[in-house]
Amino acid sequence: MILFGGTFDPVHCGHLHVARSAGAQLSCAVHLLIAPRPQLRQPCVASYEDRWAMLQLACQPDPMLIPFDFEQTVPGPTHTITTLELLRQTTGENFVWILGSDVLMKVHLWHRTDELPDWLSFFVFQRPGFRTVDLPQNFLQTHDARELSQRPGLIHVSPNPMLALSGSQIRHLHKRGKEIKSFVTAPVYDYIISKHLYRPKDSC
Ligand code: ATP
Repeated sequence: MILFGGTFDPVHCGHLHVARSAGAQLSCAVHLLIAPRPQLRQPCVASYEDRWAMLQLACQPDPMLIPFDFEQTVPGPTHTITTLELLRQTTGENFVWILGSDVLMKVHLWHRTDELPDWLSFFVFQRPGFRTVDLPQNFLQTHDARELSQRPGLIHVSPNPMLALSGSQIRHLHKRGKEIKSFVTAPVYDYIISKHLYRPKDSC
């Protein structure tokens, strides 16, 4: 099972590009796992319902992208490792976790970080401005991405960079009335406009 976790506030073309690229390399659909109550970061700006609606819209036309709200069913704070423990009850597949180099730098802060190599392999994409220097301990580096689905404890750093795009940048631009159309899919853009997301309260 290939998982790509995020707040998706909003989901943007950078996320979709990476998910499609990883899915194509591993010949497998990617589950985009939305974080209902994100840890280790600022609270989200859009509501969970709006973020989830946008994620569904973005994934809709592509059978290789599966919007996944599993963590919404888990009470209390969610942690990757506990999510995987729960998922393990329904799947025997190995877990591959897609993430950017910005998030990789914080993996040592994750809950029960020492146990992660027993549970998943990492598929890392280089985020502009966050060069991967140190890989997490106890993970074995592989240069062949296809090995990731064979067993946990591996890490592959993709030579392909992410698009230089972020949710916060899109929110910032839209709040100031700048164009964001090319950064999200058309249905997501229409949703943002129709729900007046990311705009000052008194504007429409
Ligand atoms: P924010 O700017 O609000 O922090 P974000 O776009 O960085 O949002 P999230 O929606 O929280 O990201 O998703 C987190 C995951 O998406 C992380 O693994 C992160 O590295 C990855 N990600 C962030 N930006 C991009 C991008 N441009 N291309 C691909 N993946 C990205």
